Amino acid sequence: MKRLLITIIILALQFVCVANAKVISNEKIDTVKVETASKIITELQNDMQSFTKNGSGPFVAAIYDNNGELVVKVANSVVNEHCSNNHAEMNAIKAAEQKLGTYDLAPYNLKLYVTAEPCIMCVGGIMWSGIKEVYYGVPSKTVEEITGFDEGFKPHWFKEFKKRGIVVYGNIEPELGKQELHKYVNDGKKVYKPSR
Ligand SMILES: [Zn+2]
Repeated sequence: MKRLLITIIILALQFVCVANAKVISNEKIDTVKVETASKIITELQNDMQSFTKNGSGPFVAAIYDNNGELVVKVANSVVNEHCSNNHAEMNAIKAAEQKLGTYDLAPYNLKLYVTAEPCIMCVGGIMWSGIKEVYYGVPSKTVEEITGFDEGFKPHWFKEFKKRGIVVYGNIEPELGKQELHKYVNDGKKVYKPSR
């Protein structure tokens, strides 16, 4: 009886762990979108090393158009460019707007892919950019656990984005993202945060 109970508990815990790792979205999960996002976010994670060599990272973002063509790919450059706003998502939005010569990306139906969940600033930046779809890898909770960075408060942001017609998918290849973040920290690279 006791053994049976332990087996049930172990199975229940495994279920919870698997459930936590599942892709989440503010629309009905589209498996084609998830497959595409997994491929792109894996590429972004694999590109991390080339960006961190120049002092950028540990987050990379890319914007793709509706035909699946890459518009821009950039990394976080807070430390090496001395700007606390230079998160990967903000750099990607800025680069895409400059490339296309516009402050409004909405007519281009663009998709933003990023290795980790957007922070409070980037949620705002995405909302004002006209980006239509957002796909992220590692959830904020994991980023905070590994780096100690304060991701900010984002109440109901999936719902708020839905109200504004912005699709979000999260937890894409989170284990790979987690490994890359651990590697960045274990390599002794700079983990920035404001002093309080
Ligand atoms: Zn951010």
